[in-house]
Amino acid sequence: MDIQDLTLDRDGLIAALECNEPAFNEALCKKAYETKVAHIGTDVYLRGLIEISNICAKNCLYCGIRHDNTACTRYELSDEEVLAAATKAARMRYGSVVIQGGERTDAAFVRKITRLLKAIKALPTASEGGIPLGVTLSLGEQPREVYEEWFAAGAHRYLLRIETTNPDLYYKIHPHDALHSHERRLEALQDLKAIGYQAGTGAMIALPWQTAADMADDLLFYKAFDAPMVGMGPYNPNDETPLTRSGAPLLPDEQRFALGLKMIALLRLLMPDINIASATALEVLSPRGRELGVLAGANVVMPNITPDEQRVKYNLYDRKTLLVKDLMLGESLESGKITIGWGRWGDSLHFQRNKSTHNE
Ligand code: SAM
Ligand code: SF4
Repeated sequence: MDIQDLTLDRDGLIAALECNEPAFNEALCKKAYETKVAHIGTDVYLRGLIEISNICAKNCLYCGIRHDNTACTRYELSDEEVLAAATKAARMRYGSVVIQGGERTDAAFVRKITRLLKAIKALPTASEGGIPLGVTLSLGEQPREVYEEWFAAGAHRYLLRIETTNPDLYYKIHPHDALHSHERRLEALQDLKAIGYQAGTGAMIALPWQTAADMADDLLFYKAFDAPMVGMGPYNPNDETPLTRSGAPLLPDEQRFALGLKMIALLRLLMPDINIASATALEVLSPRGRELGVLAGANVVMPNITPDEQRVKYNLYDRKTLLVKDLMLGESLESGKITIGWGRWGDSLHFQRNKSTHNE
């Protein structure tokens, strides 16, 4: 397939996803990178990732920290540990943090997040103009009132992946019970948007049984949802999960990686001014995975700043714990082609254009 023949309708996206010619894939990434630079420049924004807890009420069949995985040693960071990590992020001029964790809706946890949001907003900061750290939350589905409480406490971005837009596939990779509902997930995303969050979404790429048409539909969903930010990454197996144990079909590492880059590139062409994260799941498949994600059109990277002792227990998929420390990631990414938006929130230009924001 020739890059000149690429179209961004459903058939065109499917054809691109099915094309395995290295020359096409390379040309696609190059075109996506050029599109990114033309629309939003070369800056990459850093968000210090704090994995607050691996305690989760849910049982997604692919995830290493699912509730029923007895091989997983559970932890929850103390307030002091979270604030120390956030302080480190501010000192490193990351501009923002992401607080991610298993899904919990109990009152103590909800209150803890509210308390932490207020404390993070009050931290001394090394950012340009002394702006407080930006905070993205990724804590799963919550009642609308909880999203409202956290928004009022200072969170302004929320990442909730739809995981896959194909409901049949969703129910192949989740238990069939009230806790795992595709419809409820969509509703939660709508709640986030209505409250005023930059509501980011995304899906896993190269899941067992997922077709090129499913992935094309995921891309078209981001566009239809008008997502200001998207975080998507390849599915990586975890040996302790039902999905791996069931012998579900799995594409080889190289193909999952290539599809990961291709999805970023196609999304950049579809939505030139949104924020796209280069996921950690890429780094497990290639030592320069996240950098290659940036060169395929991503503009957000999340260096992991979870304390080491707990970071190794947040093992969503195999090999994640082997990743080396991320602290110098910003410096190592910075090169002729890639610049870093040190100390800036890096809100999605797409979101800013749709709405005047309170930063930058
Ligand atoms: N619990 C929250 C939720 O599920 O939205 C946030 C944390 S959860 C660990 C963050 C993301 O990790 C999920 O949305 C899912 O896409 C991804 N994830 C989980 N297991 C994975 C795996 N085996 N391979 C790749 N991504 C995985
Ligand atoms: Fe829990 Fe999120 Fe893992 Fe599902 S993906 S089991 S909700 S941490």
